[in-house]
Amino acid sequence: MTDVIDGNAVADDIRSSLEDCIATFEDAGVTPGLATVLVGDDPASETYVSMKQRDCEEVGINGVHVELPADASQDDLNSTIDELNDDPEVHGYLVQDPTPDQIDYREVIRRIDPAKDVDGFHPENVGRLVAGDARFKPCTPHGVQKLLASANVDTEGKDITIVGRSRIVGKPLANLLLQKADDGNATVTVCHSRTQDLAEKTRNADVVVAAVGAPELVDGSMIGEGAVVIDVGVNRVDADTEKGYELVGDVEFESAKEQASAITPVPGGVGPMTRAMLLYNTVKAASEQEGVDVDL
Ligand code: NDP
Repeated sequence: MTDVIDGNAVADDIRSSLEDCIATFEDAGVTPGLATVLVGDDPASETYVSMKQRDCEEVGINGVHVELPADASQDDLNSTIDELNDDPEVHGYLVQDPTPDQIDYREVIRRIDPAKDVDGFHPENVGRLVAGDARFKPCTPHGVQKLLASANVDTEGKDITIVGRSRIVGKPLANLLLQKADDGNATVTVCHSRTQDLAEKTRNADVVVAAVGAPELVDGSMIGEGAVVIDVGVNRVDADTEKGYELVGDVEFESAKEQASAITPVPGGVGPMTRAMLLYNTVKAASEQEGVDVDL
C-alpha cells in the first residue's frame, strides 16, 4: 500500500504547535507580526498574499498587508521596506514575487533586514544556510523536510534526486538535505533542464523531489520501486471543470503511485506546508527579536 502523505494534516500539526508558542508570547505581552507587500494586482499573487494573511489570523499572528500600485517605483518600494525594517511590531515580512518590471527584485531582497527575512532569500541568510547555520530555512524546502520526517523517511545515507535547481526550491533543498544533520546527511543529485538522461537519475533514487513547473513530467517509469516521491509542482492545466482548469503537479500521480512507497498529492501535499513554514519562520523571528523563548 502506498502511503499518500497528507500535507494538510502535517501543516495542521505545525500550526497547532505554533499556537502554543503564540500563547507564550501573549504571556510576555508580545504578538508576532508578519507583513506582506504586494506591488501591482497580479491575481495569483493577490490570492497568495490573502491566504498568508488568513493563515496569520487563524494562528494569532498579527498580519499587516501593504499594497503598492503596479507603477510604484523602486524608491517607493524601498521606502516601504525601510519602514518595515524599522517597525518593531513587524517581526517578519516578504515582498511577493513576481514584482513589476521596473522593480529590481534582487535589490529588494538585499534591502530587507535579514533578521526579518522570513522567506530566507537575503544573501546573508542564503550564506548561513549553505554554511550549515541557517537562520530561516526557506519555506518550501523546510516543508519538504517536515513531510519526509512525517512519513518516517530517514534521509541519512539516502540517494535523493531533486529535479529543479531554482533559488527558492531546488538549491536550498539540496543544501538542507546535504547538511550534516538529522534531517540531512543525504547524497543529493540536482537535475535541471540541461541534465542528460533524467529518468536514469530519478529511477535510481530513494527519494525523488520534483520542483520543475512542468505538468506530470515525472511518470511512474521514472520512479524506482519503493521510492518516496515529493511533488512540489503546481500547474494549471485546462480541464472540464467549473473554473476551466485543474491543478496538477510535476509528477503523474497515478503511475508514480504504483511504484512509490509514499507520495504527496497535488493539491494537499507541499503547498500547505509552504504556508505553515512561513508562520513558523515568523514565530522564530519574533522569538529572536523579542527574546521570548519558545519550543520550535
Ligand atoms: P523555476 O522555474 O524557478 O525552476 C524550475 C527548474 O526546473 C529549473 O531549475 C529548470 O532548469 C528545471 N527544469 C525545467 N524544465 C526541466 C526539464 N524538462 N527537465 C529537468 N529540469 C527542468 O521554478 P520554481 O522552483 O519556482 O517552481 C517549480 C514548481 O514548483 C512550479 O510548478 C511552482 O509553481 C511550484 N512551487 C510550488 C510551491 C508550493 O508551495 N507547492 C512553492 C514554490 C514553487 P534550468 O535551471 O536549467 O532552467
